Amino acid sequence: MKTRDVFSWSIFPVTVAVVLLGGVWAIDAGHAPSLVAGIGTFVSVALVVTLERILPYRKEWNQSQGDQRADLLYLPSYFGINALVQPVVAAGIVLGGAWLSNALGMGLWPSEWPLLAQFLLACIVVEFFDYWPHRWLHEVPFLWRFHAIHHNPKRLYWLNATRAHFGEVVFRGIFNAVPLALAGASAEVLALVGLANSLLGLFQHANINFKMGPLTWIFSVGEMHRWHHSLKISEANHNYGSNFLFWDVVFGTRFRDAEKSGPEQLGIEDDTIPASWRAQLWVPFKGHKND
Ligand SMILES: [Zn+2]
Ligand SMILES: [Zn+2]
Repeated sequence: MKTRDVFSWSIFPVTVAVVLLGGVWAIDAGHAPSLVAGIGTFVSVALVVTLERILPYRKEWNQSQGDQRADLLYLPSYFGINALVQPVVAAGIVLGGAWLSNALGMGLWPSEWPLLAQFLLACIVVEFFDYWPHRWLHEVPFLWRFHAIHHNPKRLYWLNATRAHFGEVVFRGIFNAVPLALAGASAEVLALVGLANSLLGLFQHANINFKMGPLTWIFSVGEMHRWHHSLKISEANHNYGSNFLFWDVVFGTRFRDAEKSGPEQLGIEDDTIPASWRAQLWVPFKGHKND
């Protein structure tokens, strides 16, 4: 096996193991969860942006196609809205969760489990509460108007991770905040889930030619998410998982064509979405011929 092949097979599992297990270790060792998540996210961005230069999946995808300005504007709005929405939703639900635990006479979250086990459980739970909202964003015409903005680019690179209309960010943010807050997961577990979202969200859209092998059954990143961005609806309406594919396997929506390295073209049919960020904000509220 050539050095380049070893590199492309090992990048993803090694990075996931180092960043996520490193995060579990650092939090277990008593470091502040928000600091660990912040540093881990910063390291992940630096790593993914560097790897896109060293081992691109498509060299031309590293060049702007008139989309970069809007993508850069989505970055702060994505984090800003999540920072506003999640605590408000979570606060309301924490109260509901406390009432529920009281009524049941027991805690809902297995806080006595090792941190790594709690983290894995949280990933499975959060995925369920993101799988369905994401699927509805594709299957309900009114919701698709919002999500089409994430899907209209003809290339994928790290900034596509946060390219989402604010309506979609609020919609998914509410569903994502519900399960863990309701169950009473700790700040440590929430920080690790945040770190996993950042790292895997970056690898999901990254323009890196990394290989996955059997990991295509577990992670919704790289080639598996490229299929989800295919121009062909028959390929695109699959692989809804945001970090993992367990629920796609369970509900029969996992898709991979092993004969090909990825879809021929990305984007959406009848694309009338404007290039400017400000004009894109109004897109969902205008009439649509497919409705
Ligand atoms: Zn989608
Ligand atoms: Zn995507």
